[in-house]
Amino acid sequence: MTDALLSGDERQFRDSVRAFVDREVVPNAARWDAEERYPRQMLRRFGELGWLGTAFPESVGGSGGGAVHYALLCSELARGSAAVALGLYVHTALGAAALLHLGNPAQQQRLLPEALRGERTLCWGYAEAGAGADVSTVRTRARRDGGDWVLDGAKLYITNATFADTMLIVASTAPDQGLKGLSLFVVDRGTPGLSVGAPLKKLGMGASEMAEIVFDGCRIPHENLLGQENRGFLQAMKVLSLGRVASAAFGVGLGRAALEAAIAYGRERVQFGQAIVRHQYVRFTLADMATRLEAAWQLSLAAARLIDAGAPFDREASVAKLFASETCTWMCERALHLSGAQGQMRDSPAQRFYRDCKVLELGEGTSEVQRETIARHLGI
Ligand SMILES: Cc1cc2nc3c(=O)[nH]c(=O)nc-3n(C[C@H](O)[C@H](O)[C@H](O)COP(=O)(O)OP(=O)(O)OC[C@H]3O[C@@H](n4cnc5c(N)ncnc54)[C@H](O)[C@@H]3O)c2cc1C
Repeated sequence: MTDALLSGDERQFRDSVRAFVDREVVPNAARWDAEERYPRQMLRRFGELGWLGTAFPESVGGSGGGAVHYALLCSELARGSAAVALGLYVHTALGAAALLHLGNPAQQQRLLPEALRGERTLCWGYAEAGAGADVSTVRTRARRDGGDWVLDGAKLYITNATFADTMLIVASTAPDQGLKGLSLFVVDRGTPGLSVGAPLKKLGMGASEMAEIVFDGCRIPHENLLGQENRGFLQAMKVLSLGRVASAAFGVGLGRAALEAAIAYGRERVQFGQAIVRHQYVRFTLADMATRLEAAWQLSLAAARLIDAGAPFDREASVAKLFASETCTWMCERALHLSGAQGQMRDSPAQRFYRDCKVLELGEGTSEVQRETIARHLGI
């Protein structure tokens, strides 16, 4: 993908992430996937390198840069391990970004510098057994009791929940108001009434961990409300700008890994007297993969540049996320196909990419949610 559209600083940042990923992530990614355990030391390392603070201001412990830098970080990490990138994205684009945009100075001071150093891990608890694409069906309830809030309910499919020190939880504070009655809360691990289930077994993203979180009369102080009462979730949806662009960049990184794996296998594998990359169908498939990947990256870059320019980005972020995630799924399927029987083996990279890719079409708003957003911008 052409470098000319990146500034010198962006290229330098991308190159340093890429070198680290090639050295410390790629060689371990298959093992981490098989062990089904998030390499937590990586978040520490990313913190030390200043990468968790990418796109966060220095005033809260961030390292500057913007959405383009963040997209480059996610893309390069996802090329090495989509699961490692997923844990970082939840920690930063959802957890830390919510604290940055909605936290008061006391909350920010207590939580953000540690989080951006990787010393305090975060998760984002929105989904529930009954609440997925339809946000208005959140059932976890938060009631005022004197100077406290008391939480009851359960969150499901929560990435990083198994080890997060601090959880950002979406709960209903006005059940009759649906979406307009959802608030955000900060809940620290170890709070009585909070329990976390065992890691859930997943199809892909093996090295990321996810679990259920249960609240049973979980009492937290009033000052743990994040943002406005009844408005916190809506506020978060407006300000969490990095999420969809990060998700699109993920698709680009994972798609690139799939393309590289397909080319590497195709150069080695000989059938009908020549490497299979010499056969026209294989060449054309790889060329189509490269073309769609380039388009996905250009859309992601354009959306990130809009965020950095302070311009409206809603439509472009949805277009980028939709196209990049669906392109990624297509590319991982093609890479698996071109890898033949060898691709089906548990030690082949192609099968891991194929298992990892699907979640990108679901998280951060499913493809249908993105299409609804794009249709709305068409005025229909
Ligand atoms: C690996 C992984 C990690 C996750 N991590 C987190 C996390 O950290 N925090 C968190 O809160 N959640 C997390 N989730 C859950 C994620 O938020 C949900 O998957 C997402 O909100 C979609 O909800 P759902 O899966 O229940 O799908 P559903 O809402 O049940 O949708 C099922 C299907 O129906 C479609 N659909 C639904 N409504 C409509 C409609 N009106 N029109 C057309 N189609 C529709 C959807 O697009 C989808 O294809 C994670 C999920 C996965 C798989």
